[in-house]
Amino acid sequence: MTYTSESLEKIISHLTGLPSIGRKTAQRIALYLLKQPREEVMELADAIRDLKDKIIFCSICRNISEQPICSICADTKRNGALLCVVQEPHDVFAIERTHEFNGVYHVLGGALSPLDGIGPEELDFRSLLAHIHNNKVEEVILAMNPTVEGDATAMYIDRLISPLGIQVTRIARGVPVGSDLEYADEATLARSLLGRTKM
Ligand SMILES: [Zn+2]
Repeated sequence: MTYTSESLEKIISHLTGLPSIGRKTAQRIALYLLKQPREEVMELADAIRDLKDKIIFCSICRNISEQPICSICADTKRNGALLCVVQEPHDVFAIERTHEFNGVYHVLGGALSPLDGIGPEELDFRSLLAHIHNNKVEEVILAMNPTVEGDATAMYIDRLISPLGIQVTRIARGVPVGSDLEYADEATLARSLLGRTKM
């Protein structure tokens, strides 16, 4: 479909293809923005620009930050000897929401996936090793996704850092809280049995 305005066509084609946004939703968003006060739309435009101009990666943990060192790494109240390795920044947000973890993080930016051409060279394991070395990390918790790629990444990291004499653990995977055993898939249930802890 072609629109009566090139600008409208342009914004719709930019919005289409964003995660979970199809052409119809893109059209609805574009027309909604058109009706909003100019200042509000400009604020959104500025926020999008800031996303690319101001956000950098923490030089220690590779999490997103606006400073060379992120607020978590800079927080002296956190235990820098306890390091949780995750795949993506949103994993940090998820663990932070639990308020159960007082260590620091390292964000890999993905997982090993040979089929997609993501090998050890594509993930920055050197920055992980530097982080462990420079910050005298004593325990590394692997919090990879419970997928084939996550498992492969966890095994790779374990082989990489276990020889350094550092304790390596992996988060237990199990039945989601609030759900029934009968609704858990076999793989989850099997892992919960394997990852059982003492009462
Ligand atoms: Zn950091």
